[in-house]
Amino acid sequence: MSAASDYQRLRSHLAFLRMTAAAEALPGLLEEAAKDKALSPTELLERLLAVEVDAVDDRRRASLARFASLPSPFTLADFDFGAQPSVDPKLVADLATLRFVDDATNVLLIGPPGVGKTMLAVGLGHAAVAAGMRTYYTTAADLVARCHRAALEGRWATTMRFYAGARLLIIDEVGYLPMPAEAAAALFQVVSQRYLKGSIVVTTNLGIASWGRVFADDQMVAAAMLDRLLHRSVVLDIKGDSYRMRSHRARAEATRRAVAGS
Ligand code: ADP
Ligand code: MG
Repeated sequence: MSAASDYQRLRSHLAFLRMTAAAEALPGLLEEAAKDKALSPTELLERLLAVEVDAVDDRRRASLARFASLPSPFTLADFDFGAQPSVDPKLVADLATLRFVDDATNVLLIGPPGVGKTMLAVGLGHAAVAAGMRTYYTTAADLVARCHRAALEGRWATTMRFYAGARLLIIDEVGYLPMPAEAAAALFQVVSQRYLKGSIVVTTNLGIASWGRVFADDQMVAAAMLDRLLHRSVVLDIKGDSYRMRSHRARAEATRRAVAGS
C-alpha cells in the first residue's frame, strides 16, 4: 500500500518538475530494477535522470535549430572540395572547430554567385547549432528591412539587442542590393556592436575593394564597417565557376558527346 503511494508521489514529483520523459520511462525502469535486482538504486536513478537529460538536450537543440533559421540542411560534410579548389579544406576544417567564435573572429566569404558561399556559411551555422551555440541566419536585405520596420515602430533598441544576442550571426548576400544610407547605418550598427564580442559570418559577391560601391551614399560607413569586420577575420576568397553552372556545363557536354557519338 505504502509502496503504491510512494510511487504515486514520485509520479507527481516528476509531473511537477515537468520531467515527462523520466515519468514515461519510470515504470519500465522500475520493472527492470525489480527483476533479479538487475539495477542498483544508484543505477536506477542515473538511468532515470539520463532519460530526462537526453530529452531536454534534444528539445534545446531543436529549439536552437528552429531559431537559427538556416535556409538549407547542407552541412560542411556535403561540400565538395574537389569542385572548388580555391577553398582550402584545412581552413574550413579549422573553422568547423568553431574556435573562431570563441575569440569573436569574423568570417568573410567572398566570391561570385554560385560558388558555395551560402552553403559554407550555412554549414558553419549547422556546426554551431550542433555545438549548442545560439546562431542566427539572415540575409542582408532581411536585416535591413527588419531594422527599418523597427525604427518606424519604436523597437530599434530591442532589434539591435536581438542581433547582438546570437553567439554566431550569419549575414548572407551583402552587396547584392545597393544600400541607401539608412540601410548602411543599420548594418553598420549591427557590425559595430558585435565588434570584438561576437562573430559574424558575412557572404558577399563584392571584392573588398568594391564595398564603397554598395554603400555609395556613405563611403565613410563602408570603410568603418570593413575596418571592424576585417580587424579580426578570416577571409575566404572563392574563385572559380558556379557549382550549378559547372554541373549544367558537364551535363551539356555529356549530352553533346552522346549526340555526336550516335
Ligand atoms: P553562393 O551563395 O556562392 O551564390 P550557393 O552556396 O548558394 O552559392 O551554391 C549554389 C548551389 O550550388 C547550392 O545548391 C549549393 O548547395 C551548390 N554548391 C555550391 N558549391 C558546392 C560545392 N563545392 N559542393 C557541393 N555543392 C555546392
Ligand atoms: Mg548565396
